Amino acid sequence: MADELIGFSWARPKQGFYWTEIHVLASDVRVRVLTSGIPLNRAPKAEQLEIAEPLLEHSGLFRTFAALEPTEERILRFANKYGSLGFQHGLFTMDNPECPGSEIPVSGELQSEWTQCISEMRWIVQLWDWIQADNYRQLSEYVRWQGMDHVTVDSHPYLPADAELAPPVLRIASTLSTDELTSHAAPSFRPGFDVYWPAVVTVYRAVTGHLWRRVSPELTWDDRGKKMALRFEPDNLHDAMWLQFARAIHGQYEYRSCGDCGEWFRLDPSIARSNRKFCSDVCKVRAYRKRKNKQMSVADADTQSSA
Ligand SMILES: [Zn+2]
Repeated sequence: MADELIGFSWARPKQGFYWTEIHVLASDVRVRVLTSGIPLNRAPKAEQLEIAEPLLEHSGLFRTFAALEPTEERILRFANKYGSLGFQHGLFTMDNPECPGSEIPVSGELQSEWTQCISEMRWIVQLWDWIQADNYRQLSEYVRWQGMDHVTVDSHPYLPADAELAPPVLRIASTLSTDELTSHAAPSFRPGFDVYWPAVVTVYRAVTGHLWRRVSPELTWDDRGKKMALRFEPDNLHDAMWLQFARAIHGQYEYRSCGDCGEWFRLDPSIARSNRKFCSDVCKVRAYRKRKNKQMSVADADTQSSA
């Protein structure tokens, strides 16, 4: 579903990513990272890359990302389909296949970085869903006031304050002061009791924090090349997904997870009927075939048992 305000193309390696152990630059330390293995010190050849517009093709990508289990296997599958997050550290080196004994600089992403990013997106999307649904019962479990001056919004409120969770799920918690809340909230805001505004300001803080100085507004030619158009250009896929989330909040869009592949997609009355169950025609046909095959195998079993 086209979002004409977002301009975002993203390259992914044609041969795909892989997990491997490589060196941290200028040290003997080895870490396991997701990499394309394409050297950073040379411009990649055009035939090595595939350019896509993941936000155009996947209208609910930020939600698909939020639902992703941060295992190596799932992260690899996600990266090969949509691209890497885009953290160009340039902090790693690996053996140079063309010159044994020497090393080449490559970019790589740690599983812990993916886990952190997924956990944060998942938590903020969850908060936003409760806010949208006016679900005060859920919010009151996760928003806890300490007196009248401070409130904590915590993904795991029942754990001791300093306890960290082991991956794959990370604890995401933030503390807000009454002063900060008062500057954003409506006059109805009640310090010491309110669970709605602390949740709203947590979402505001996270989303704005991910856009600030990472998404550039710019005037560019529109798709037909006929007039100038305003576009927001994110630096990388991670920022692009936060921008897509911001647009979802702005437009109060609704989403659904595909009945076949599980990918999230936006429900838009002008594009898709709101009773649409699949992200694409491919998934619709595949689900239909699966159902048919199942019916046929049940029928076969019935025939065999009655024979
Ligand atoms: Zn699908």
